[in-house]
Amino acid sequence: MSALFWVVWTALGACVGSFLNVCILRWPVDESVVRPRSRCPRCQRMIRWYENIPVLSWLALRAKCAGCGLPISARYPAIEALVGAGWLAAGLAFGPTFTAIRVAVFGTILLGIAITDLEHYLIPDGFTVSGLIWVLVTAFAALAFNEASPFAGPLDAIVGACAGAGAIAIIGWLGEAALKREAMGFGDVTLMAFAGAALGPLKALMTIFAGAALGAVVFVLIVMPIVRLRGAAPGSATDAAPPAQGAPADDASPTTDHRGVPLVPFGVFLAPAALIVLLWGDQAMAWYLRTMLP
Ligand SMILES: [Zn+2]
Repeated sequence: MSALFWVVWTALGACVGSFLNVCILRWPVDESVVRPRSRCPRCQRMIRWYENIPVLSWLALRAKCAGCGLPISARYPAIEALVGAGWLAAGLAFGPTFTAIRVAVFGTILLGIAITDLEHYLIPDGFTVSGLIWVLVTAFAALAFNEASPFAGPLDAIVGACAGAGAIAIIGWLGEAALKREAMGFGDVTLMAFAGAALGPLKALMTIFAGAALGAVVFVLIVMPIVRLRGAAPGSATDAAPPAQGAPADDASPTTDHRGVPLVPFGVFLAPAALIVLLWGDQAMAWYLRTMLP
């Protein structure tokens, strides 16, 4: 394939990343991603098509609205560049195939899920419903292409969706019984239906295991030290006077439960785990069987 082909391929990925920005912004607040067209939140200036070219427009505008100079966050071009790079990586790894597009779309949706779960503690149906439909439809469509693919076939996709959603629902239910509080949002169930359809039942269960392991590592190495540092700092929220009646308490933020224990948005870990298991699940399984069994 020529260099030009891969430039166009990567640009297509960046455009998908641009649309992902819109989904990440609008789905958590129940807005349509189709209309209205994007406007500057301050001066309401409509964003022209040539101001909407991934990464390049942000650079040309020097990170500012052309109307009022309102700064435009670097996260928008960062997500566009990341998705473009992801599409290029999928294309180079799987060749210019239907499978590469399936991997790229799967990764793009998972990125959207991880970001909205991290920011808002929710996983919009927009990602999981359209993702589930995409995975199931392409599982059937892939039969026509006859390519080697890491994705589950049609039957395994259906069983995988049920296994992924069922397993995470059971874990959430047991966790709720043990902790006496909501342990898992329904968004995690929808995420695992989508991921399970892509992965099949066995790898869906591997994803939950890998996501829990990833979450535990991040929780112990990053979240706990931050909580401890904040707790030790004088004048921090923990030793401040209780807020006046009716005033919004700091604890009202969704980042901690009523005892101040940080909530962990599980989707943030399940999403990368699903991609890792799709790409390297077979190798991990072979390594495990080689190492653990005599
Ligand atoms: Zn503006």
